[in-house]
Amino acid sequence: MATSNQGGKPLILLTNDDGIAAPGLKALVEVARNYGEVLVVAPDSPQSGQGHAITITQPLRLHKVDMFGGIEAYECSGTPADCVKLAKHVLLKDKKADLCLSGINHGSNASINIIYSGTMSAAMEASLEGVNSIGFSLLDYSWDADFEPCKPFIAKIVSETLANGLPGCRLLNVNFPNKPEGGIKGIKVCRQADARWIEEFAEATDPRGEKYYWLTGKFINDDPREDTDVNALSNGYVSVVPSGHDLTIEKSLQPLAQRLES
Ligand code: MN
Repeated sequence: MATSNQGGKPLILLTNDDGIAAPGLKALVEVARNYGEVLVVAPDSPQSGQGHAITITQPLRLHKVDMFGGIEAYECSGTPADCVKLAKHVLLKDKKADLCLSGINHGSNASINIIYSGTMSAAMEASLEGVNSIGFSLLDYSWDADFEPCKPFIAKIVSETLANGLPGCRLLNVNFPNKPEGGIKGIKVCRQADARWIEEFAEATDPRGEKYYWLTGKFINDDPREDTDVNALSNGYVSVVPSGHDLTIEKSLQPLAQRLES
């Protein structure tokens, strides 16, 4: 097992986008601490939907907190991606994490939600630095969501990744179905569904008489393929999508070059 840490145990960086007080992060700490030395760096406030935003016009603050029973933890005033950058440059310095875990997010990051997700962008930020990274999300937005059924699957995915690395990628997007009938059936390795949001803005008037707008939407999956994350989740499986940051569409390179380069 590769180790970067003086104690010989794997060094595991944990973060999230729901904030350091989120129960989903606590659940992830409870599993991760069995597999190595854990460092938590998480936002001091909810940062869902921040995607890969970074803070460049304001100072960033890091404060040490004691919230996880003796585990080294910091709350950060920035975004999820800021947390990972600060962990690398300020806290870890010459040490490199063996694994980065993000979540467990309160709510789905399946399909195109990965684009907007602070949870997944934090994991992606670590993967950009060469660290194997896994984002975990449960399809339940509530603060008191039940994360217990996720734990054995997180344990399996984390221990397998620490032992054998990841094949051909450095980032996994893992989503858990919410209390499927008969319990979670198992794990399916999937492709990202090509689903979409039908969105609208609810309009209302604030107490000062000014209009304001609030984004609302409905998630629609009309991707007919069977091997998608959305399909696996609706059939009661944990979805695992190998992912990454290279957004090049390979099949378009050659036909586009024929048109534009001649
Ligand atoms: Mn979130």
